[in-house]
Amino acid sequence: MAGLYIHIPFCKSRCTYCSFFSTTRNELHDVYVEALCSEIMQRRDYLPKNTVNTLYIGGGTPSQLEYSHLDRILETADKAFGLADAMEKTIECNPDDLTPSYISGLYRLGFNRISMGIQSFDDTILKKLNRRHTALQAVKAVKACQESGFSNINTDLMYGLPGQKTSDFIYDINKIISLGVTHISAYSLTIEEGTPLAKEIEQDQTIQATDTLYEEMFNTLCTTLHNAGFEHYEISNFALPGFHSRHNSNYWDGTPYLGFGAGAHSFDGMVRRWNVPDLDRYISSVRTGQAESESEELSEKDQYNEMIMLSLRTSQGVSLDKMRERFGQDAVTRFLDEASPWIKKKDLVRSGNSVHFSEPSLYISDGIISRLFRD
Ligand code: SF4
Repeated sequence: MAGLYIHIPFCKSRCTYCSFFSTTRNELHDVYVEALCSEIMQRRDYLPKNTVNTLYIGGGTPSQLEYSHLDRILETADKAFGLADAMEKTIECNPDDLTPSYISGLYRLGFNRISMGIQSFDDTILKKLNRRHTALQAVKAVKACQESGFSNINTDLMYGLPGQKTSDFIYDINKIISLGVTHISAYSLTIEEGTPLAKEIEQDQTIQATDTLYEEMFNTLCTTLHNAGFEHYEISNFALPGFHSRHNSNYWDGTPYLGFGAGAHSFDGMVRRWNVPDLDRYISSVRTGQAESESEELSEKDQYNEMIMLSLRTSQGVSLDKMRERFGQDAVTRFLDEASPWIKKKDLVRSGNSVHFSEPSLYISDGIISRLFRD
């Protein structure tokens, strides 16, 4: 099976911390959707029909598009790949776009999962990040989605935000839980070079959270969500039973995915390909018959490192059976040998035929994972 990812690189305004590829040139919606649908049809033979099991429209801000645009994209994807009614179909939305009529439209189109960027329930912090919505708008948006029939809702939260204390973050987590969402993605703020926030920090106008504070918030997050019945199934992702994101789980499993749109990535298990992250070049290249892209074939070492990196961030961890199947028994023996100091320290846990991080050690997982890579 495979996943489809469709990138909508439009935002109404830019958040101060964001380094994703997106633009505020919203006058280009029509031409972009036109190009996107052409690209989907141009690459329709890339996968056998009816092998797609998830669809994810991400951005940017997909909820900036009109109903008619989304209708056209879904119709084209269905024509090209066959979209079953029951498969997971997610759309990323910003709370300020989610009017009751827009939400009903999404439901009618067959989306069955909403992923909403809330980030914080503190209006001062939201303003500082240049988010467009308020805490109240976020609460109203979640409720409106639930009233329209969406039972599978993810909300994104961030921690380590400027001026945020652990008590503020606890308030955010409890608020999210009280809203009855089924999935929570929580990311620590990373300061990306070239963003307005990075500049503010450089100029001492904003103070960055300390490592100790990040770690305290991460631990609080894990404990609070665990007590509320959420499963911590990937370093930044928590879900009620039965509500894991199938699309993202595909990424972590190494399942192939096909990405459409400017800057979108695709992966077939061996080759990674990415479309040019430039709106004008993307649109004009699609018009001439093929989206401008680059690609790289992963060496066996890269594939091994990728498996280690992605699977060790999940609660299932690395499957030794899968490793043996793909890289041979020697790779398994070597991996267990290299992992043994951390297994002894209980940072890593061997359980049957898999090795995974203990929950408290997930916080330091990046440092350990990189030491398990092959050179
Ligand atoms: S809405 Fe999302 S993609 Fe757009 S600027 Fe903000 S964080 Fe970046």
